[in-house]
Amino acid sequence: MHRPRRTFDRFALISATERSRMYVDSILALAREIETDARKSLRLEKQECKSCFYRQRVGGASMTSQPCACCGKLMQFGSTATDALCPECAKEHSLCKHCGGDLEMRPRRRNWPTAADAPRTGGAPDGND
Ligand SMILES: [Zn+2]
Ligand SMILES: [Zn+2]
Repeated sequence: MHRPRRTFDRFALISATERSRMYVDSILALAREIETDARKSLRLEKQECKSCFYRQRVGGASMTSQPCACCGKLMQFGSTATDALCPECAKEHSLCKHCGGDLEMRPRRRNWPTAADAPRTGGAPDGND
């Protein structure tokens, strides 16, 4: 692969500098938001962990359906950025509905739920989508 020589003038240099600065500023602002859990009540309302809530999600714009990983109920989404769990299961087990992890990101919590109807190891999909 070969790329053409980049423009090297005052405008290009200032643009690159501003882009880098904005990128770093946005990461730092995001880090502060995560650290202080700035929108905690809304996050808990949406039943999401800090990672999923504060990160911007990119999903293809197409109607997508997927069963809840826990109860198997079919869920509908307006994009391909689907949730792992239905809100009810997420709430019942204190899990993030989007990633399915612990709501407060505690890997050492004592009781991890299992799906009532699924094989324990979460084996191969059965093709009943
Ligand atoms: Zn469910
Ligand atoms: Zn999450």
